[in-house]
Amino acid sequence: MSDYLHIAFDPIYAHPLPEGHRFPMLKYELIPGQLLHEGTIQSRNLVRPVLCADEIVLWTHTEDYISKLKGQTLSAKEQRHIGFPQSPALTEREWVIVQGTIDCCLAAFKHGVALNVAGGTHHAFADRGEGFCLLNDFAVAANYLLHYKMVERILIVDLDVHQGNGTAAIFSNDPRVFTFSMHGERNYPFHKEKSDLDIGLPDGIDDGKYLECLQNALPALLESFNPQFVFYLAGVDILSTDKFGKLNISMAGCKERDRYVFETLRRFSVPCAVAMGGGYSHDIRVITEAHCNTFRLAKDIFALE
Ligand SMILES: [Zn+2]
Repeated sequence: MSDYLHIAFDPIYAHPLPEGHRFPMLKYELIPGQLLHEGTIQSRNLVRPVLCADEIVLWTHTEDYISKLKGQTLSAKEQRHIGFPQSPALTEREWVIVQGTIDCCLAAFKHGVALNVAGGTHHAFADRGEGFCLLNDFAVAANYLLHYKMVERILIVDLDVHQGNGTAAIFSNDPRVFTFSMHGERNYPFHKEKSDLDIGLPDGIDDGKYLECLQNALPALLESFNPQFVFYLAGVDILSTDKFGKLNISMAGCKERDRYVFETLRRFSVPCAVAMGGGYSHDIRVITEAHCNTFRLAKDIFALE
C-alpha cells in the first residue's frame, strides 16, 4: 500500500487546562474535527498511538527529568517554565504524542509523509521543559530511527516562529542530525541555542521575503546534507494574526510555505514526519484553518487517501 494518509491522534491530545489559560488546547480537537467534516480525511486515517516506552524516551531525556515528570515532582519554577500545571494526564499525553511522532516516521517510510496532530515540542531539552514543551518528540523519534539504524542522516526543518532551542541543544554534538531553524530573531527564546543552520528573520517580514529565505535554504540543504529522513515542524505562529509571532505572513503565505516544503521533499524523495508546533492567533478558527492547510497539502501533494 503506498497511498495511505497516516495521522497520529488521540483524544488525550486535547488536555484540559485551567480556565483562561493562554494555550489554545482546543485546536487539537478542532483540527481532526474539521478535516473529517470537510472530507479531507476519514476516521480510518486517524491512528491512536500507544504510550511510548520509557526506555525509548531515555535515549533522549535524562533519567532525573523523566522521574520528575512521572512522579509529579517538578518544582513550581520548573512548571512555570513549562507553562502547564503538572498532572498524570499531562505526562501521559506527552508519552502518547511522542509515540505518535515515532509512528509517523514508520508510516512516512511507506507513504512518503505522515502527520501528528500535536508535537513539534522543540523547546524541550534533555533535562528540562519550557515554552509548553515537556518532551522533545522530534528528538525522541530521531534517536529512535538512529538507534535502530533505520537511517544515518536526519534533517530537522523547524519553521515555527520560535527557535528550536531544545532540539538544537540535544543534537549540538551529533553530526547525524542536522538542525535547521528559521524563526523570528527577536522572538522567544531570547537566549538562542546554536542550530546547524539558523535563519533569524526580522520582525514584520512578508510572504515574498519569507518564502525567498526558505527557497534559498531548503533545496541547498537537501543537496549538501543528503538526509534520508526529514522532520518538519509546521508551526503556524508565523501568521500576521499571531499574538506572539511578530511576522507579517498571510494565510496564503503560510500555505505556500507548506506547499513548497512538501513539493521540495517529494522532488528529493525524502520521507517526512510532520508535527504541528505553535499557533496563537486570537481567532481559533484561523489557527485551525492554517494547520488544516498543512494536512490538506500533504494529502494532495503526496497523493494519499
Ligand atoms: Zn512557536
